[in-house]
Amino acid sequence: MTNIILFGPPGAGKGTQSEKLLAKYGLVHISTGDLFREHMRQQTELGKEAKSYMDRGELVPDSVTIGMLEDKVKQHPGASGFIFDGFPRTTAQAAALDTFLGGIGTQIHAVLALEVPNDELVKRLLERGKISGRADDANEEVIQNRLQVYNNQTSPLADYYRQQGKYIGIDGVGSIEDITERLNTAVDETTAALNS
Ligand code: AMP
Repeated sequence: MTNIILFGPPGAGKGTQSEKLLAKYGLVHISTGDLFREHMRQQTELGKEAKSYMDRGELVPDSVTIGMLEDKVKQHPGASGFIFDGFPRTTAQAAALDTFLGGIGTQIHAVLALEVPNDELVKRLLERGKISGRADDANEEVIQNRLQVYNNQTSPLADYYRQQGKYIGIDGVGSIEDITERLNTAVDETTAALNS
């Protein structure tokens, strides 16, 4: 198995690049943001709870998010690996993921971190807001809050994974194709190391 976290702030290109990686490597893509949006569309209880946090750019509580993620992984028992997109976002989520994957005999192999300057992120998210239909992309105040939440609660995970020797920084500025190329190189190096 090859399990990868695509890490980075909102607007870094995680969703776009996940699509490229899963097409090339045949991994299962799990985006907790997409899962929450699906719950919201279907107006489930979980969706209603998540909406109040998402609309403000806050994180949905770990107690809800971790269970949802684990359920999704369990739905793919034969997977050759996973791309986690937008998860983990807190230290508790990262620790839970380590424990959960350990329990099924696997682990995270690489954390590919898309690095993009703040002003570029705001620009990209406002652009995306014009077409994505996402309420949390349309309002600059919510965007700024999401970036602040990332800096406070999620960016410390970089050190968590550096300590495990799994953090790989990737320049997230440039054309989509160039960034895909950088990610492919990192995935190839990761799988080569696993097989050596
Ligand atoms: P995303 O699509 O990854 O930008 O996520 C959109 C929103 O969903 C976030 O601003 C959070 O409100 C919520 N969300 C997504 N993933 C998580 C997570 N791992 N933990 C908590 N909240 C999350």
